Amino acid sequence: MKHRRSIDLSPRHKYVGPAGELPWINLAKLSAYYVLGGECGRCGHKGWIDREKVRRRFGAETFLKELRNNLVCVECGNRKGNSFTIWKA
Ligand SMILES: [Zn+2]
Repeated sequence: MKHRRSIDLSPRHKYVGPAGELPWINLAKLSAYYVLGGECGRCGHKGWIDREKVRRRFGAETFLKELRNNLVCVECGNRKGNSFTIWKA
């Protein structure tokens, strides 16, 4: 079953880096050309995050660093030590 906050991985995206850790990055500053990914701190699972859903739920001004605690791994359910990754669409 697909988690509502995950979308399919696509090879067309180019990895930019773990820029989601930077304290000043929020959706308002992150250009629409970038896609958000998430990485699990426990099992290492990687997946896409629907930035539009994040924006609707938390607003575009909330910094990604603060949202890290809201990330839940769809593989193992881990909520700790998860991180955002930034990809170029
Ligand atoms: Zn996991």
